[in-house]
Amino acid sequence: MTSPEIPETGITEGGTEGAFRDVLSKDHAKRGKPPVHFADMTDEERIAKATDLGLPKFRVKQLANHYYGHFDVNAAEFTDFPAAKREEAAAAFFPRLITEVTRQVADNGTTIKTLWRLFDGSLIESVLMRYPTRTTLCISSQVGCGMGCPFCATGQLGLTRNMSAGEILEQVRVAAKMMRDGEVAGGPGRLSNIVFMGMGEPMGNYRSVLSAVRQISALPPEGFGISARNITVSTVGVVSGIRKLAAEGLPVRLAVSLHAPSDELRDELVPMNKRFNTTAVLDAAHDYWLASKRRVSIEYALMRGINDQAEHARLLAKRLNHYGDDWAHVNPIPLNPIEGSKWTASKPEDEARFLEILHSAGITATLRDTRGQDIDGACGQLAAKER
Ligand code: SF4
Repeated sequence: MTSPEIPETGITEGGTEGAFRDVLSKDHAKRGKPPVHFADMTDEERIAKATDLGLPKFRVKQLANHYYGHFDVNAAEFTDFPAAKREEAAAAFFPRLITEVTRQVADNGTTIKTLWRLFDGSLIESVLMRYPTRTTLCISSQVGCGMGCPFCATGQLGLTRNMSAGEILEQVRVAAKMMRDGEVAGGPGRLSNIVFMGMGEPMGNYRSVLSAVRQISALPPEGFGISARNITVSTVGVVSGIRKLAAEGLPVRLAVSLHAPSDELRDELVPMNKRFNTTAVLDAAHDYWLASKRRVSIEYALMRGINDQAEHARLLAKRLNHYGDDWAHVNPIPLNPIEGSKWTASKPEDEARFLEILHSAGITATLRDTRGQDIDGACGQLAAKER
């Protein structure tokens, strides 16, 4: 297992040259691959598997309806299936990929943070947040994260492995089912938004993330029918991934974790900056806006005395305004400090001044609400504790 003291990073040897490559931990190969799930299969693979089980092709469509339309994976729910085949079909197509370990509830039952165990014992987490007009699920796409940001709990875990599309999607299915069945305070409702802001760097697991995005947004029976406009893919600034995503032509929102307005400071806070610097990241983010016409979110974790001073806000405003008006929205996030770290949350007056400077420079910015502050809000903390 990756040593927590020396997290692996995604920095390619050779500094700023060469391709982006995620560095996977050495025991990755030993862990093997997660069981193949319905969501990991192509149509042809599903039909081939059904044929192996002695099931005709139309049964695959029924299974898709169960999974994407009704969030069912249990044999007992496949009432339109021959009784003798239900168990076999459920086991073959819907192996259990995520198992709840703990659940923490906050904000009067409207925030639910779940720690999941995967087939190999890996731990990941997702957070469901219900608001008056929408319900958002924050999901993980990798076990741990290889980007090594020193202020982040997940970064301290290092990267264990990529998650499969099935593992990513199962977080969505379970949350959508909970909402439908009224298991979240506020009664039955609909999961409406997905953000890839849990554990991991989504661009480091591009194929599975994109497959998950397509299956989240397609209409049933191809997907869960959550509009691509309501999906946000975040990145620490992997420029090659941003450009690839822009070329897909999907109306998903991009969120870039900038955290610092200059290379000097960002080199320290976000090691990936040595590979893709602030100019490369902002150029790519602006190009994403041009291609998608979706305003880019700039995420900025405010850290006391480090990146939250007036000079930082002024430089951030200048750098964003360099590209024109109204293409980006800044989300300053009060840092939820990890235990024993030197990185702590900004003073409220510094937060207020930071926002004020951005606003007076014509930049839209809202302090991101920190749902679940009382239940270990920063990503990775729950998994870090469990270990
Ligand atoms: S802040 Fe994001 S990119 Fe950086 S280590 Fe944490 S999860 Fe990874």
